[in-house]
Amino acid sequence: MFEILFLGTAGARYVVAKQLRASAGLLFRNDRDYLLIDPGPGTLVYLAKYKLYPEKIKSLLVSHKHLDHSADLNILVDAITEGGFKKRGKVFLPEEILLEGLLLPYLKEALKELVILSEKNTYHAESFVFHTTRKLLHSAETFGFIFEVDKNKKLGLITDTAYFDGLLEEFKGVSYLIINTVRYQPKEGVLHLSIPDVKLLLMELQPEITVLTHFGMTMLKANPFRVARELSSELNLKVLSAYDGMKLSL
Ligand SMILES: [Zn+2]
Repeated sequence: MFEILFLGTAGARYVVAKQLRASAGLLFRNDRDYLLIDPGPGTLVYLAKYKLYPEKIKSLLVSHKHLDHSADLNILVDAITEGGFKKRGKVFLPEEILLEGLLLPYLKEALKELVILSEKNTYHAESFVFHTTRKLLHSAETFGFIFEVDKNKKLGLITDTAYFDGLLEEFKGVSYLIINTVRYQPKEGVLHLSIPDVKLLLMELQPEITVLTHFGMTMLKANPFRVARELSSELNLKVLSAYDGMKLSL
């Protein structure tokens, strides 16, 4: 059983700063294994709220250094390693996070394994198998991911990026797709996806299920549920808009 819990669905500064949506990232579950992705501010709090205690989680994946994706990294490593006293946990992150000292040295030492992500590579975290895409077009070193859900099905996670030629190619063949959709309309110079970009992606990739998440203010104003419903009928595809606490079984 592969299950996704959307602990938080906020993206971009305003929605995160005002906590109009929670910014607690994603929790994947594969039978008894958990993989926590992009632990933004409040992740520890929301894990506790759902009675998911950090000691159950042995693997963390961070797509890039921005705080809405990484703010709770240190406190989670602290919780997993019992304050740095137990050698535990496996963290996957871009090198930039280490170079900028965003993972505290004593916690880094306590980790059982620290893995620096590189482009188009394959990684294992307990029963999870995932691949990185090439670096995305964002204002930090950022990776997208493709997870093996089962023998035939893959799940793509398009993290923060602007649309660029070649983005489509990275996610060819996925059955499921999660898209960080910060903006409703595109805006010059903003390195995030908007609804016209999502349309381009979906028309070509034709996923069985698409989930939009990581919403900025323009998406919240446009009403993500309505936007997803309209995309579903326009493209004849199943498009969902995530809400805080949403669970999806694949
Ligand atoms: Zn970002």
